Amino acid sequence: MIRFYNTLTRNKEEFKPIKEGNAGLYTCGPTVYDLAHIGNFRAYIFEDLLHRYLEYGGYKVLRVMNITDVDDKTIAGCEKESVSLKEYTDRYLTAFLEDMEILRLKKPDYLPRATEHIPEMVSLVKKLLDKGYAYEKDGAVYFSIAKFPSYGKMAGIDLSEIKSGARVDVDEYEKEDVRDFALWKEEKESVFWDTELGRGRPGWHIECSAMSMKYLGESFDIHTGGVDNIFPHHENEIAQSEAATGKKFVNYWMHCAHLLVNGEKMSKSKGNFYTLRDILKKGYNPVAVRYLLLSAHYRDPLNFSEKALKQAENTVSNYNAFYQSLDFCKSGIGNKEIKADIEKARKDFTAGLSDDLNISAALAGIFNLIKTVNIAVSEGTLGPEDAGDIKGFLEETDNVLVILDKEERKLSGEQQNLIKEREQARKDKDFKKSDEIRDVFKSQGILLEDTLYGTRWKTVKKGIK
Ligand code: AMP
Ligand code: ZN
Repeated sequence: MIRFYNTLTRNKEEFKPIKEGNAGLYTCGPTVYDLAHIGNFRAYIFEDLLHRYLEYGGYKVLRVMNITDVDDKTIAGCEKESVSLKEYTDRYLTAFLEDMEILRLKKPDYLPRATEHIPEMVSLVKKLLDKGYAYEKDGAVYFSIAKFPSYGKMAGIDLSEIKSGARVDVDEYEKEDVRDFALWKEEKESVFWDTELGRGRPGWHIECSAMSMKYLGESFDIHTGGVDNIFPHHENEIAQSEAATGKKFVNYWMHCAHLLVNGEKMSKSKGNFYTLRDILKKGYNPVAVRYLLLSAHYRDPLNFSEKALKQAENTVSNYNAFYQSLDFCKSGIGNKEIKADIEKARKDFTAGLSDDLNISAALAGIFNLIKTVNIAVSEGTLGPEDAGDIKGFLEETDNVLVILDKEERKLSGEQQNLIKEREQARKDKDFKKSDEIRDVFKSQGILLEDTLYGTRWKTVKKGIK
């Protein structure tokens, strides 16, 4: 049984999908006006963990992540550079997709762009106008919050307390009620669409309602984002979707806490952010960024520091060293208890993640196993079959964690023979030969190290420009 904390009910609930064995998942994606920062990637990594763990649990996941490629910032950006909106946003979308790949994030099934779904948004707004939930004013269309009595339910907000329009929608249009939010904005800038609603562009919230329902249906299982999305974005999505369809929009709402810097939210506006490229230019391994963001529980705020990043880099490096070393456990006599130890680790891993993605408990299961195995190695009892079983388990859980360097593990037959030759040379105390072979590897960008388990190797760190 998998349980998730549902922001809507403020409870941990058993996950029961609408269609057995399936999970429909919607993730609020990036606004492509600039490079994403690693605070944004904390949200995407939490969602990646959710996606992968559902798959590990046997669910067939259908996942959608929108791309907001029209809003105030993207329009301002393209106008400033005198390029088309598409040219401007394509640049940041490409960078985002590259960053996703570097961080080993699974690609969602659909990455719909807002600008390619204007007809769907127009038809949703029309439906809300027809049903009397929306009204037109000076060329714009607003959602009337007063018509939707449960507004504010998820965010736990008392409507009577919302006095300033600024909290709901920061625009300067005249509205019937300051709390109402824009579904459609009148033509003001160079970017607009000529539609049945007049010339203008969609509001941000309607994008996510239109695109999620197009690909996942009017009701679907899970909707995610960062806690800053709860209000007003997700509250507005619920209001406009449920008003239009008369059905429950989403069953489980999951939100991750922020990535902080010195106790403050990492954000563009505060200027306290790092992009992934900033970090890689400093020479850090991107998998360390993945591990750092992954290894804290998604509902706990996480403070980012280079010290924490260095620690994550060490953990990832040791983890990979352990994994590689399993290939060299050729001599142990065999250890009957290892199978049970792996079973225990697997149980801890799944029990942890099934409990609202409790990653610390899941990782503790794996690290306890590594401790036990290290004892068996030092006692000479770990046999090749045991090592193979452990390797299989690490590869299985790596479908969720994705921190092993599997490709880099592949040495050619020639290189493997050379390692054996060097091991023999060391036994024969022919250190000249052993050093020569080490230098051959070095020239290929591979470092050899002599460990308790035999020779292990790693590629020299590569940074990107
Ligand atoms: P934005 O491009 O600002 O709409 O943000 C994209 C996603 O990143 C949203 O799900 C936000 O909630 C999330 N996000 C933004 N800043 C942070 C942060 N410092 N920590 C975690 N998530 C964040
Ligand atoms: Zn959204």
